[in-house]
Amino acid sequence: MPVRDDAARLAGQIAELRHAIHREPEIGLDLPKTQAKVLDALAGLPLEISTGRGLSSVTAVLRGGPRSGSGPVVLLRGDMDALPVTEETQLPYASAIPGVMHACGHDLHTAMLAGAARVLSARQAELPGSVIFMFQPGEEGYAGARQMIREGVLEAAGPRPVAAYGLHVTSNRLPLGVFSTRPGPMLAAADQITVTVHGRGGHASQPHLAADPIPAACEMVLALQTMVTRTFDVFDPVVITVGSFHAGTTDNVIGDEARFLATARSYSSRSRSALAEQVPRLIRDIASAHGLGVDVEYSDEYPVTVNDAGEAAFAGETIAAVFGRERGETAQFPITGAEDFSFVLEEVPGAFVFLGACPPDRDPVTAPTNHSAVATFDDAALVEGTALYAELALRRLAQG
Ligand SMILES: [Zn+2]
Ligand SMILES: [Zn+2]
Repeated sequence: MPVRDDAARLAGQIAELRHAIHREPEIGLDLPKTQAKVLDALAGLPLEISTGRGLSSVTAVLRGGPRSGSGPVVLLRGDMDALPVTEETQLPYASAIPGVMHACGHDLHTAMLAGAARVLSARQAELPGSVIFMFQPGEEGYAGARQMIREGVLEAAGPRPVAAYGLHVTSNRLPLGVFSTRPGPMLAAADQITVTVHGRGGHASQPHLAADPIPAACEMVLALQTMVTRTFDVFDPVVITVGSFHAGTTDNVIGDEARFLATARSYSSRSRSALAEQVPRLIRDIASAHGLGVDVEYSDEYPVTVNDAGEAAFAGETIAAVFGRERGETAQFPITGAEDFSFVLEEVPGAFVFLGACPPDRDPVTAPTNHSAVATFDDAALVEGTALYAELALRRLAQG
């Protein structure tokens, strides 16, 4: 029986798990209730299960191969955390917790990965290798994947995986059931720039007796944009946005300092390291030109999510073989969002694949985006995602 039919038979169970997780969302690295639901869903399956030390992750290993433990290893990853958003969807299984919502669809990822563990467990005897199921907390800004790597997820089955795959649902952009991936950069690197310009406060009518941090900070904001267009290749794009800017209290007082925060997105390690070098230099030099002090910090958050060309092609072929060619697309451009699956893909070749979960009564072009309080993800995507996870593992292990 095709894997997709196995997944379809589990549709009710997978949706039930998804709804239970959706109703009780948790944020960050500590997701005890979600972890308990995952452990429950995996109970009784022939898996070696371990849980995280510094985070509430679940790592499950399914050993196939003619002899237990032989053959290659493939890793499948699903993230489990929610966002600080108050849900406004009116869904019957909407979040029961004010201020917390599965607005990025990670509830679907968790349920699909648990579904894939069940589908593959039933085929353990025919598995030509082992599968690591990586249930990961803390994707939304907590670098949970990096922590799971430090705790040994890549060595959970013994030898390192030959390939790793992650799925992500989208509430807009793609029609329901359509998969999208691409070779090379798939999502941006995201870094944070924190700047505090130190001046000397005084009377606004006598700026020459003070040291006003505001004009210099404004100059920095504009200079960052000029730097982007003058020093970076347009075909290796960089985006800098100052999303927070605070200074002063009222019109007739010069304050002591001005602060701003910016996000920097890039798509290559070359641009990323150039940013890390040029941004602090630009900020410091502008401060010094005005005789002001400054603290500037360029902090690395998530690296570029880079799909291995061979693995992205393999994922595309698998999608075409299982669902039909019309169900897969090669994305023309990367996405400006960021993903901590990037840390896994820095260590293991693999591919990150988007799956359209836009409800059929909405237009993917205008539907609310992931992270919106009214974003909805259709349950019909669950069987498809479960089937793709399982097929990627089965077919990739068969290649050796
Ligand atoms: Zn998200
Ligand atoms: Zn996400």
